[in-house]
Amino acid sequence: MDYNKFFDIAVNRLHDERRYRVFADLERIAGRFPHAVWHSPKGERNVAIWCSNDYLGMGQHPKVIGAMVETATRVGTGAGGTRNIAGTNHALIQLERELADLHGKEAALVFTSGYVSNQTGIATLAKLIPNCLILSDALNHNSMIEGIRQSGCERIVFRHNDVAHLEELLRAHPDRPKLIVCESLYSMDGDIAPLAKICDLAEKYGAMTYVDEVHAVGMYGPRGGGIAERDGVMHRIDILEGTLAKAFGCLGGYIAGKANVIDAVRSHAPGFIFTTALPPAICSAATAAIRHLKSSGWERERQQDRAARVKAILTAAGLPVMSSDTHIVPVFVGNPELCKKACDILLEEHGIYIQPINYPTVPKGTERLRITPSPYHDDVLIDQLAEAMLQVWERLNLPLHAKSLAAE
Ligand code: PLP
Repeated sequence: MDYNKFFDIAVNRLHDERRYRVFADLERIAGRFPHAVWHSPKGERNVAIWCSNDYLGMGQHPKVIGAMVETATRVGTGAGGTRNIAGTNHALIQLERELADLHGKEAALVFTSGYVSNQTGIATLAKLIPNCLILSDALNHNSMIEGIRQSGCERIVFRHNDVAHLEELLRAHPDRPKLIVCESLYSMDGDIAPLAKICDLAEKYGAMTYVDEVHAVGMYGPRGGGIAERDGVMHRIDILEGTLAKAFGCLGGYIAGKANVIDAVRSHAPGFIFTTALPPAICSAATAAIRHLKSSGWERERQQDRAARVKAILTAAGLPVMSSDTHIVPVFVGNPELCKKACDILLEEHGIYIQPINYPTVPKGTERLRITPSPYHDDVLIDQLAEAMLQVWERLNLPLHAKSLAAE
């Protein structure tokens, strides 16, 4: 049996469908965000990163680096095992307290990633509710879909952000326990869920709510509690889920909610029980980032300002910026090959790194560039981005809108 052939076929299929992914070999430079070194096939080059999910540059904040180094120097590197075996390192206890406080909840539980927190968190919660029906937004992230699948519960998908459809489905199942699962901020389109209306429906029809705030924690709300904090509905949502890997610049994920619910997940979730805990140094770094962003609004305000400027300048230049209510700036391409080609030219000829977003991350025909301006992208970088993108669009014959008068 030629086993190799199966793997070659699988990879060749991706090449044929123009979906084969190539990762750039990059090295970030602490203190010079968003600049990085690209180890290109032709040698080292300086580039500007325009698609990082370290949205606020906290991964290079002196307080965060300082906390990581100090803790690693004091207690060492790894956690020494699962929490069942090694106990809970103190830095993790402090982190969970910080997270519970951030979301105004009784308790929080940290996992090794946001992906794992959704996968094992949703699966465990839903399994513990007898005969649970899961109502899931059509654009939920793969980690949530996997969690739902692993729960083995019945699930119905409601149209994206469509509360009328959600209500129809809730009304049709009056006597069953129900769990509504959605995100607060959808990262590929940059749109926001109507959380207050979803809470109204959950209360009216007796459903539990689970909201993924991965792309919003640290960035929205007066203390960085996310969209739910911004919209004043944090206390109405049963389980809030987030990551420590994006705006908090570290690694790990978590859920926050009532103490008994969190304790039940802690006691039953395989993705929590059977894996080594986060290293203490990462926990301390994440705690430092969360604490900083609870009191400092500068990063949030400046990031919104930069995102607004990028949207305005690219739109004025005639580039097809897709509508977005948030810090995410998607620019439409609509073809996987051209999307990859545009990104290759931007990197090789302009020193601008933006990862192409192709299927299955977004539906076929909606391929795009996803730009995430940070507080540290200055006016010069933004002008360079617009100029380079315009040149690439013209060279690849990609459609441009009519330029607005402001840009003439
Ligand atoms: N939830 C959503 C909506 C995401 O987009 C992602 C990843 O990007 C995750 C969860 C997983 O989070 P993490 O990267 O911490 O594993």
